[in-house]
This record gives sequence, C-alpha cells and structure tokens, in this order.
Amino acid sequence: MSKVGFIGLGNMGLPMAKNLVKAGHDLQVFDTVPAQLDKAAEAGMTTCLTAALAAENADFIITMLPNGEIVLSVFELITKAATKGTTIIDCSTVDVSSSKKAHAMADEAGLGCLDAPVSGGVGGAEAGTLTFMVGGEKSAFDNALPILDIMGGKSVHCGAGGAGQSAKICNNMLLGISMIGAGEAFALAEKLGLDQQALFDVISTSSGFCWSVNKYCPVPGVGPQSPADNDYKPGFAGALMLKDLKLSQQAAEETGAATPMGKRAMQFYENYVDEGFGNTDFSGVINQLKTMKRQS
Ligand code: NAD
Repeated sequence: MSKVGFIGLGNMGLPMAKNLVKAGHDLQVFDTVPAQLDKAAEAGMTTCLTAALAAENADFIITMLPNGEIVLSVFELITKAATKGTTIIDCSTVDVSSSKKAHAMADEAGLGCLDAPVSGGVGGAEAGTLTFMVGGEKSAFDNALPILDIMGGKSVHCGAGGAGQSAKICNNMLLGISMIGAGEAFALAEKLGLDQQALFDVISTSSGFCWSVNKYCPVPGVGPQSPADNDYKPGFAGALMLKDLKLSQQAAEETGAATPMGKRAMQFYENYVDEGFGNTDFSGVINQLKTMKRQS
C-alpha cells in the first residue's frame, strides 16, 4: 500500500481521498479549511498542519485545488518537502501555462509529475468513476495508474506535461457550446408548440445527439435523471463552467486558435453567473434562453 499526500479536500478532493482510504492506502492530508480536515480525520486520514508535512515521505502527492495560482504556490512548498522519486499528481483544472510551470518545478526537484484533471463531477468523485485526462511522462503515468484507477473509471494518457489540461479545456469548451445548443433547440421547440419529449426522442436517436441531450437533458422530466429534475442543483455549477470556458479562451489567445463559439459560450456563462446562477447547474441556461428576447 502507498503513502499518499493529499492537498485540497473540497467537494472533489475529499471523496477522492476517501476512496483511496477505502482501498487501504495511507493518507496524510492538508487543507486550509479546518472543517475539511475534521471530515478527513473522521474518514481515517492523518491530518497535517501544512502542505509540506502532507508531502513528506509520500509515494504520491495529489493536489485538488481551485486554480493555477494556488497550485503553483502549493507546488512551491511540496517540491521542497517531497522525497526524490515521489510523483505529484495535480488533479485540479488549471490553465495550461501554469500546469507546465508546475511540471518544471517538479522536474527541477527530481520529482515525477502528472497533470490529471478530471471529468465526472462530485458524483464521479464519490463513486470512483472519474475520467482522468493525463499529461506527463508515460512512465509516471504507468506508475500512477493503480492510484488513478481507484478514483476513476478511465485514465487517458494525452501526451507531455500540460496535455491533460489541454484535453480538459477542449472537452469543456465543447460541452459549454453544446449545452447552449441543446437549450436553444428545446427553447425553439417550445415556441413551435413541439412536445419536448418528442424532440428528445428524435434528437437522442438522430444526428443531433450529444451528451448534453442524451445524458444530461436540460428539460425536467425528459431523458435520464439530470439536474433539471432536481431544480437545477449542481451537478456542474455555472461558475465552474465559466472557469473552464475562460481557460479555453486564455489558451486560444495564447495559441492564436480561432474559437468564436467558445468565446460566445464564455460570454453567455458570464451573463449566467452575473445574474446570480453561479451555483446553479450549467444546464439551467435553457431557462435564460426561454425568456430571452430575439435580437435581429
Ligand atoms: P473546492 O473549492 O470545493 O475545493 C478546493 C479545496 O482546496 C478547498 O477545500 C480549499 O479550502 C482548498 N484550498 C484552497 N487553497 C488551498 C491551499 N493553499 N492549500 C490547501 N488547500 C487549499 O473545489 P472543487 O469543486 O473540489 O474543485 C477542485 C478542482 O477540481 C478545481 O480545479 C475544479 O475546477 C476541478 N473540478 C471540479 C469539478 C466539480 O464538479 N466540482 C469537476 C471537475 C473538475
């Protein structure tokens, strides 16, 4: 069994760490919020007073933090404290350039490093069914796979350091665009007097099918159970979708890629969050579309 340092025990990190404990691993953990440490202690983890202490003598160090700036500040501490040969797995969603900086810091300290952002949300973290999109050395990936397999159902090695973040940003940009598209289709259908269930039955078996309709339909009572059936409680919050769309636009800016729909989707979710829906599921944009006036 491995000794795992885990830093960042929020909505995602805590259930991921719990799954590692259940599998028999020895967890030493840190979070800046004492209440999260209390929950970790209840679940059988050893709590630490600093990130550096959580990193000491660990085989793997997992970070699950809010953004690139925080990840780099934590890497500053843990790369000094970790033993050579340890692999750091950063599961946070961050911008590609911060991720590459984090890889460079680990490399300089003689540590292995993977960027391994996830898809699957809190439900996936609890169930241990996350998808990991992983960047870094293939040997580090192979070494970390038994750990990733406990927390997830699928891990894809996407390429060199930063490739996991690149894949995550591209996936979520498409998701944001497709959810707005799904909302527009169902909002237009309503205006046309078309039954929403009938439209679902058509789209879900026709060329318009996509995850946003087939698995996560934004219309209550239609399709499989989704946040729409639970008053749009997340799920995946609008603020997190906005975060990922901003990361996609930062990456597009840095690389010169043309992403006009991604940019529009970001503006759409900016408006969604500004109107107070940051903690509402991202599929709730359909309700804005239904009340919006057509602009010619
Ligand atoms: P969260 O805000 O619930 O958790 C982040 C945790 O990090 C908090 O407990 C916070 O106290 C802790 N933290 C902040 N600064 C710290 C520091 N310097 N040292 C130690 N701990 C610190 O966020 P979350 O929902 O768990 O998301 C974590 C990451 O996963 C984010 O990058 C997010 O974009 C990504 N993500 C989230 C979801 C989701 O559905 N929530 C899905 C996929 C990816």
